[in-house]
Amino acid sequence: MLFSEIGLGPEVLRAVEDAGYTQPTPIQEQAIPWVLQGRDVLGCAQTGTGKTASFTLPMIDILAQGRARARMPRSLILEPTRELAAQVAENFEVYGKYHKLNMALLIGGESFVDQIKKLDRGVDVLIATPGRMIDLFERGNILLSDIKVFVIDEADRMLDMGFIPDIERIVSLLPRIRQTLFFSATMPPEIRRLADSFLINPRTVSVSPPASTADTVTQAVVLTRAEDKRRALRHLLRTEDVKNALIFCNRKRDVAMLHRSLEKHGFNAGALHGDLPQSKRTETLEAFKKNEITLLVCSDVAARGLDIAGLSHVFNFDVPHSSEDYVHRIGRTGRAGRSGRAFMLAMPDEGKQVAAIVKLINREIPRVEIDGIESVEFEPEGETRRRWGRKEAPKDSERRPPAAESRPARPVEAPVAEAKPARSPEPRGEVNPPRATDPRAADPRAADPRTTDSRPERRRDEPRRRRREDDDDEAVVGFGDHMPAFLLRRARPSRVDGV
Ligand code: AMP
Repeated sequence: MLFSEIGLGPEVLRAVEDAGYTQPTPIQEQAIPWVLQGRDVLGCAQTGTGKTASFTLPMIDILAQGRARARMPRSLILEPTRELAAQVAENFEVYGKYHKLNMALLIGGESFVDQIKKLDRGVDVLIATPGRMIDLFERGNILLSDIKVFVIDEADRMLDMGFIPDIERIVSLLPRIRQTLFFSATMPPEIRRLADSFLINPRTVSVSPPASTADTVTQAVVLTRAEDKRRALRHLLRTEDVKNALIFCNRKRDVAMLHRSLEKHGFNAGALHGDLPQSKRTETLEAFKKNEITLLVCSDVAARGLDIAGLSHVFNFDVPHSSEDYVHRIGRTGRAGRSGRAFMLAMPDEGKQVAAIVKLINREIPRVEIDGIESVEFEPEGETRRRWGRKEAPKDSERRPPAAESRPARPVEAPVAEAKPARSPEPRGEVNPPRATDPRAADPRAADPRTTDSRPERRRDEPRRRRREDDDDEAVVGFGDHMPAFLLRRARPSRVDGV
């Protein structure tokens, strides 16, 4: 199908042509005609599929008629992170260049005054993160009664970050007669229920199964002790042909520490996590996109949606807690058919997490060894439990003092600063070729063909974690004390079964 056959107006088509797109992507081909017809849409699609244009392009056409009134925006797009919101705003600028639509970006960490001024002038498109949106509503700066099109993007990420109560509140402030577009990379039951309660007779559109990794990304895992992780990473950075890379840590404090350590070793690195001031986040991201910084140490705030052209590498300095985060992290590279490389550093007691990732993506991750980094194996399941007398890893206060080589592997949540200094000089050799080691060997259940399900799915025992900007410290399971209204309603059989 050609863009000209999809039903978009001439100005939008001209902007699309200027952007260099010749054909709609599958999600655009499926979604745009329904959006133009005014239907609610339930979209199951990951970032990188052209999802943003699948709702922004028809919205521009729909909003081309009519005018915005002061403080009464005509459309609202909710995004889980400030970076994603900013990216959607950039998309509107590119695709809406032949229209005179007013847009406002309401994100935390930026001046209220400027945002309020924009709202006062009248806004056609409002792009917001849920927290700032509610703040401005409560201050009386915004009325949502004129919203015609409402978009919830990255709904599963919103759930992970604990935004669902805020979203329910926002939806309760919207007019009942509106068009709702709801996008999520995965469709767990909570998300289906939520979609059921927000959408009216939606058309379901879906591309690529959830949690698949692109064939264009070459993946590898390095097994290493905690104290060797930074050295292993430096070795990879020096021996791989790294043009630019994202380096993911699970915790904000580890992002800061690893960033300092890399700078100390002469790498051109920046840091990005949710506790940094917004001005710093924007500045760092810009510098990274312009290649002024080649390495960006980051938390999962950067895992979703960030569109960095031609990113050559992703390093998982920490094995992500959630297998789905692995898919999102490595999905930053290998985009638009380009090749990319993704390395993960795993510690001996992380066999279970790695096995869960392997099961989710339904492909093995070859193991590589690094000269000069002691080769270790995954501990058999239960080893950590026996050592510490229970299943969970010990808390910092309970941990024994490190006893040189024989000390047990440090649990993943311990700060990087605790890692011992490198014991040997930096190796300069090559990364050894992949060894076909199946990390599922560490998990007898996963290795058993009778229990190995070929369908990618979320691990049942994996709690949904509450993360405001990103992961930190204690995990809150489910909704904490809050019981959202949609969970109390009976789920109707949904059209998305089987998605
Ligand atoms: P998204 O999934 O919205 O994050 O989009 C991923 C990337 O695909 C962005 O860099 C878009 O500019 C690009 N893109 C979106 N639609 C098309 C298209 N029809 N043809 C080529 N590239 C596209």
